[in-house]
Amino acid sequence: MARPVKFNIHPKQADIHDNIAIADMPEGLQGEGYFATSFEKVIGRARMNSLWPLPFATSCCGIEFMATMASHYDLARFGSERLGFTPRQCDLLMVMGTISKKMGPILRQVYLQMAEPRWVLAVGACASSGGIFDTYSVLQGIDQVIPVDVYVPGCPPRPEAILDGVIKIQELALNESLRRRNSEHYKALLGSYGIQ
Ligand code: SF4
Repeated sequence: MARPVKFNIHPKQADIHDNIAIADMPEGLQGEGYFATSFEKVIGRARMNSLWPLPFATSCCGIEFMATMASHYDLARFGSERLGFTPRQCDLLMVMGTISKKMGPILRQVYLQMAEPRWVLAVGACASSGGIFDTYSVLQGIDQVIPVDVYVPGCPPRPEAILDGVIKIQELALNESLRRRNSEHYKALLGSYGIQ
């Protein structure tokens, strides 16, 4: 439910600001002076709006990511401006670029060092499928070594497409059950990659 917010606005600017709304609230009960909802919905919303990306950029798609971070596209608008280059602090692994087979185990190690809950975004054709590099040395998609949540197509994808991928991850984080990471289904998924 959107809550319209009005500030001390100059009358001439009233039209512009009339539609300003703060983030939607989760469903819940509300009355004067209180609002109640479920823990799961609050956690989901907090996770959604505070994703910390770990950029694993190896080639040209990384340049698109730089544009995505810069002022024009501004990933900070989605609460994701805090990039971490240590896996233990991050929950969104963004893989951008060609991943060689030699690099596969390193990528997997980075993934394993991330704490749960963690999400993976494969950005661009190379990370998703090997792209144009159908060669002996290139991994034909990072989902051969780690599970992927969202794939972003393109060679390279434009910053808008990368933002769209992040928004899709946000939707996953928002709607994820708190029990999912302990579920048999999730354990089976990790098990299929040889991860305990
Ligand atoms: S998908 Fe295209 S732009 Fe991205 S890393 Fe591969 S070759 Fe470069």
